Amino acid sequence: MKKYSEKNSEKRAAVRKSRSASKRTLIKESGIIPKDALRGLVLASIGKFIIVRSEESQKIFECYMGGTLITPNKKSSLVVVGDEVHFIIDKHQNESTVFDETISESGYETGIIIAVEERKNSLARKVPGKSKREHIIAANADYLLLIMSAFQPRYNRKLIDRFLVAAELGGLNFALCINKIDLVHKDDMDILKEDFIPYWELGIKTFFVSVDKEINLNNVEEFLKGNRVILAGPSGVGKSSIVNYLLGDSIQTVNEISERTQKGQHTTSSVRMFDLDDSTQIIDTPGVREFAISGLDKEELALYYHEFDRYFPDCKYPQCSHIHEPHCAVLEAVENGEIDIQRYESYINLFNTLEDGF
Ligand code: GDP
Ligand code: ZN
Repeated sequence: MKKYSEKNSEKRAAVRKSRSASKRTLIKESGIIPKDALRGLVLASIGKFIIVRSEESQKIFECYMGGTLITPNKKSSLVVVGDEVHFIIDKHQNESTVFDETISESGYETGIIIAVEERKNSLARKVPGKSKREHIIAANADYLLLIMSAFQPRYNRKLIDRFLVAAELGGLNFALCINKIDLVHKDDMDILKEDFIPYWELGIKTFFVSVDKEINLNNVEEFLKGNRVILAGPSGVGKSSIVNYLLGDSIQTVNEISERTQKGQHTTSSVRMFDLDDSTQIIDTPGVREFAISGLDKEELALYYHEFDRYFPDCKYPQCSHIHEPHCAVLEAVENGEIDIQRYESYINLFNTLEDGF
């Protein structure tokens, strides 16, 4: 005869299988949330599991989506890190495991997400493919902190500008962190900093740090305090090293949580929120190679290049794209050196990737 635990494990596997088979979640824009539902914050999205912390008890639940979901975000990713959700405890799943005392395979109680609150802001990107839904990386944060490195790999200003547009479009404040400055000769530090003057002029905070040599990390910690900050950037820039540094001793707990949840899951694409203290959280996101803007038409792009603001009222044509039109005040400012040429080039580059909304 099979032991109870084995039987339960088979049962759980069957339940999970049937869940992954039911791909369809029906969306309702409004509805009644049951009184016994709990409120929680989405901390991680790992494979098909959504890790939620109950607002009331601070307990962690391993959740999944049920048959219906009440959400005002029906045109974008349904549940993302940072979302405020309502969930009910999955009694069926939890009862089936009473014999071996584990609650789900990872040891967390299981919940079913039934509703998502409206997002205050979000970081979205366009993913190639058929999906009509906008891909949201994370939601409800105060800042996007973009991490790049001085060398190995060298920062990419075009990519910085894409993230900068995406941040404003999503309603997020933006800051920059340039890591690995230990690789910059001290005589070249000023040259490096010069490259970031256009951002400084736009009022963007830029940190020049080295995790290896622990340079200026206290400034980053100071900046993070009291905020919820999304950390994004290409791979290899030292983002994991920064996250590990910031988490310090608590990295142990984090590893434990992820090991328990990630069994048999692909982990590389996970987004996770970590607490640095009661009022400070960071959201780690997977390294990106490229980044495409979602939800912006060509003719709107200039509104996100704020150094153009004072010039474009003087363009001859009101619908000026600032690319080929005669008597374009923006182009003249570029030619006079009043607008940074690299920023202008990134504008053209980005303009060409966007869809025509005219
Ligand atoms: P991630 O891909 O952005 O998460 O980057 P990692 O944290 O995995 O770091 C990528 C590589 O850069 C590793 O070999 C790190 O040791 C190295 N690295 C990280 N921070 C620094 C730094 O401040 N200076 C130097 N020289 N190397 C660093
Ligand atoms: Zn113009």
